[in-house]
Amino acid sequence: MEKIYDVIIIGAGPAGLSAALYAGRAKLKTLVLEGTKVGGQIAITSEVDNYPGSMSDATGPTLTARMVEQAKQFGAEMVPDSATGTDFKREIKIVKGEKDEYKGRSVIIATGANPRRIGCPGEVELTGKGVSYCATCDADFFQDLEVFVVGGGDTAVEEALYLTKFARKVTIVHRRDKLRAAKYLQEKAFENPKIDIMWNSVIVDIKGDGIVDSAVFHNNDTGETLEIKAAEEDGTFGVFVLVGYVPVSKVFLGCIDTDEIGYIIADSRMRTNVEGVFVAGDVRVKTLRQVVTATADGAIAAVEAEKYLEHKE
Ligand code: NAP
Repeated sequence: MEKIYDVIIIGAGPAGLSAALYAGRAKLKTLVLEGTKVGGQIAITSEVDNYPGSMSDATGPTLTARMVEQAKQFGAEMVPDSATGTDFKREIKIVKGEKDEYKGRSVIIATGANPRRIGCPGEVELTGKGVSYCATCDADFFQDLEVFVVGGGDTAVEEALYLTKFARKVTIVHRRDKLRAAKYLQEKAFENPKIDIMWNSVIVDIKGDGIVDSAVFHNNDTGETLEIKAAEEDGTFGVFVLVGYVPVSKVFLGCIDTDEIGYIIADSRMRTNVEGVFVAGDVRVKTLRQVVTATADGAIAAVEAEKYLEHKE
């Protein structure tokens, strides 16, 4: 017999896993398409110390593992597949994956957001060869080396602080003369002797033959350009690009309403413009993208999906 889920959750970050927990507890037949990485952004986050109850020993991966375990305990089925297409026109909604096709009476989109690139020459070619988007994943490779962190938001400053545990020197490269990060993070960065800040600056070229060995910096204020080469004894340095995120919503464009950037529009009940399709977490238009708001969205979306299904019966 053809398998039809009550709810298909696309994405397994905090929003998707929280939705899975609530849907599972409501005895809905729940499928979670995990995508490429379970845990979403927090899977690559060193510390999650602003999620209530999650103290300094909690890392992104440990919190994720507990969320997965809990969702499974309540019956959610986890499948390692990524959505590549959808058909939401009929009552039974279809989600096409890379491996299979899935049918559900409702859908919760929780696909999150991916790191934004700076878009300079060398960035793509040298990714994994000195250029990184994840301090937690790659800090280890830069033990006693120099690293540059591009960005001035919470992520950049938080990860710059984390990188000081490994790198000899950390330089934050920020395009303006003021950081965007929370004040307490700024204070920690200013106090840290290993952290320098290169104000009003952007990286315009990253160079290296197989591994990063130099980068060109442009000062937006003075118009000056400066090439920094890796110290001879090091041979390389790290460039951590932490300049925000772009929503993972390409698959839904054209069938779900989004804003001009691609964030999915929903009401306070997580309902999109398509009946039976809900959204939760970083992929939706919202003012605060945090684990705590993602999990709240997931809970609301699952409860709303349950109500929607009840009314359909
Ligand atoms: P963000 O707040 O959007 O900051 C992005 C930073 O990158 C900004 O400083 C921006 O500069 C800079 N930037 C953007 N595009 C750039 C480019 N092409 N070249 C150079 N610089 C560029 O992103 P985020 O720091 O990743 O944070 C995302 C969300 O997660 C935020 O809501 C944040 O509060 C939250 N978050 C919270 C925590 C925490 O509370 N512990 C930790 C991580 C993230 P401008 O400042 O000039 O725009």
